[in-house]
Amino acid sequence: MMKSKHALKKLTPYQQGKQTEEVKREYGLDRIIKLASNENPFGYSDQVKNSLSLDHGLNTYPDGHTSELRNALAKKLNVEEDQIIFGGGSDELIQIISRAFLYPGVNTVMAAPTFPQYKHNATIEGATIKEIPTLDGYHDLKGMLQAIDENTSVVWLCTPNNPTGSLIPKEELYDFMNKCPKHVLVVLDEAYFEYVETEFDSKIIEHFSDFPNLISLRTFSKAYGLAGLRIGYGIANKELIAKLEVARGPFNTSSLAQKAALIALSDDEFIEETVQRNKAIRENLQQFLKDLGWHSYDSQTNFILITTPIDGEEMFNYLLERGYIVRPVKVLEDSNKIRVTIGSEEEMDIFKDLLQHLHSSVSKEIKS
Ligand SMILES: *Cc1c(COP(=O)(O)O)cnc(C)c1O
Repeated sequence: MMKSKHALKKLTPYQQGKQTEEVKREYGLDRIIKLASNENPFGYSDQVKNSLSLDHGLNTYPDGHTSELRNALAKKLNVEEDQIIFGGGSDELIQIISRAFLYPGVNTVMAAPTFPQYKHNATIEGATIKEIPTLDGYHDLKGMLQAIDENTSVVWLCTPNNPTGSLIPKEELYDFMNKCPKHVLVVLDEAYFEYVETEFDSKIIEHFSDFPNLISLRTFSKAYGLAGLRIGYGIANKELIAKLEVARGPFNTSSLAQKAALIALSDDEFIEETVQRNKAIRENLQQFLKDLGWHSYDSQTNFILITTPIDGEEMFNYLLERGYIVRPVKVLEDSNKIRVTIGSEEEMDIFKDLLQHLHSSVSKEIKS
């Protein structure tokens, strides 16, 4: 027997959303709309498209320090350059944090449901996991505080939370940070930061001097539309960043990703348009669901968690056969939920028709 970590026996590899080509073949469809991974349906900045070329010395290693992007990002965020760490998506930063802070004997606190990679990585590192159920999609911060003890190493706060879409209110976040013991690292996963309306922005990164135990994670994968290039970043105090840097691979972000992110960062207009269109389409869908009488969770993101009148898996199959890929989601014992990425106007119009159709046939069944 080879001597791998025992935890690997408890885990399975990440199940990605169904791939488009696979579904086309299986169901004989010629168009597939993927609303399963919260990607940007509007693509990414034209400036990135126009200036990326493969003429950029792919034979040499990338700049392991990510200097140019680091400089631009530090200016934009108004932080010091040594307050930033880059990762191959924030996924890799979750892995780096887990590798640096989690081990057998410590515990880690997170919401349920939340982004599955926290639990996955914590399990690999052998830490004890404490999951605190959300309250209608919102983090139960009081419950999470109560779960913290002297052996707690990391608390994961996902805001807005994936898969529920709910944002941690500003006041609650500051209150939590003030009460949270300083020996606990708080990871604030802000993968959907750009989608959060300005009035709800906690501006917590302006307060790192008060909170040396805080790191915020952001990404170019969601609003920036660069999921395929794998680049994200963490912002924290420089002492914390220096610790995490030890656990980072020397060339963990590619030269193409660095270049694309640098250009994308300067195109505020693209982000603004993405965010505005997303909001209009999301609000339209929310109103539609309300009119149908279906429950959905509050969302400050580019996805919505919907409670469906049939089981989430059934709902998933119904939509799949009609060319829409979504995610069935379990919230504690409830499996009648799907998470749906906000697609383009046209994609969502057809999606609404499909829901309407299903709604009518389910209501008929109930009446007869
Ligand atoms: C998508 C997502 C990530 C991972 O994003 P990458 O930067 O592509 O690795 C992390 N956290 C949350 C909550 C996400 O939804």
